[in-house]
Amino acid sequence: AALTLALTACGGEGAGSGGESPAAGNGDEEIKVGVAMPTETSERWIADGDAVKSGLEEAGYEVDLQFAGDDIPTQTQQIDQMITQGADLLIIAAIDGTALTSQLEAAAAENIPVISYDRLIRDSENVDFYVSFDNEKVGVAQANALLFGLGLTDEAGEPTGEKGPFNIELFAGSLDDNNAHFFWSGAMKTLQPFLDDGSLVVPSNQTDIEQAATLRWSQEAAQARMENLLTSTYSGDTKLDGVLSPFDGISRGIITALQGEGMGPTMEEGLPVVTGQDAEIASVKLIQDGVQQSTIFKDTRLLADQAVVAAEAFLAGEEPEANDTETYDNGVKVVPSYLLDVVTVYADNIQSELVDSEYWTQDEIDAGQ
Ligand code: BGC
Repeated sequence: AALTLALTACGGEGAGSGGESPAAGNGDEEIKVGVAMPTETSERWIADGDAVKSGLEEAGYEVDLQFAGDDIPTQTQQIDQMITQGADLLIIAAIDGTALTSQLEAAAAENIPVISYDRLIRDSENVDFYVSFDNEKVGVAQANALLFGLGLTDEAGEPTGEKGPFNIELFAGSLDDNNAHFFWSGAMKTLQPFLDDGSLVVPSNQTDIEQAATLRWSQEAAQARMENLLTSTYSGDTKLDGVLSPFDGISRGIITALQGEGMGPTMEEGLPVVTGQDAEIASVKLIQDGVQQSTIFKDTRLLADQAVVAAEAFLAGEEPEANDTETYDNGVKVVPSYLLDVVTVYADNIQSELVDSEYWTQDEIDAGQ
């Protein structure tokens, strides 16, 4: 009986692997990694997808990279297909962090490790690792940029003694994206003392994340909400001084609405301070031109590298190294994470942060594309 058991256990490990990594297995079968990205409408995800794919290919794996057009059924179908086509590992940036439970069950049943990429996958036991940026810090950085832009703090975040009051409006991301809640919480904690002492005011009173949310991070939806706010709250003498925006696409929607009402076109000519995230090329150009105030630069090349490092660890039968094992509770378990830092970009450090690091060339920035 013992022998039978031992043989069964061995068989369960996979033919010929003898407990070693699939990469070190029989040699002639390629290791396949499925990479599921949410959408191609934002450059960052294209850059993420390309960087993850090339990193994995350099490590010798076969890669199936899919973008889902921000459509949840498309993404679930793509992941189902990756599993049926024999993926050995999955890297997933979810559209809706709660919509993948049955895909993850199927992956777990096949012993396929799952790395949650940038956005935490929620409500499932079967998420093995999380690579992301420090998302709370992103929100803090966005709020600090807004405070600095209004003159309430200096660039180091120290209060200047200025008391305003300044009128601001608040935008959040897509509520089905776990990150949106971290961005919001970091930002609101940072703004709260200034709201409490009256140096910041939200004239619309829309201060709940539900009111501020932008489904699928849509630029058009943000523009429409900003237009509504301008009509409902700013058609009289009330002046808008700043807008907290969590993502460059949303920022551009906001800016279009503001300029459409005759504000600006630049901050020097009275356009409110608008923050952002992702260092998208169109927004970097707007920052260079004095239109958008700031963005949060997340170097997707570094994130992709971490995803590849974690993938290699799993495929070698090891656990990837985490630098945070407390923060990211997905509702079922705390997912071990590797978190990267972010940088706030204003007009004066575009060169040092984005051009010198070869994230964008100066020509691309000048063209805005
Ligand atoms: C990402 C942001 C991005 C947003 C919209 C978030 O999950 O962390 O970098 O701006 O999605 O795509």
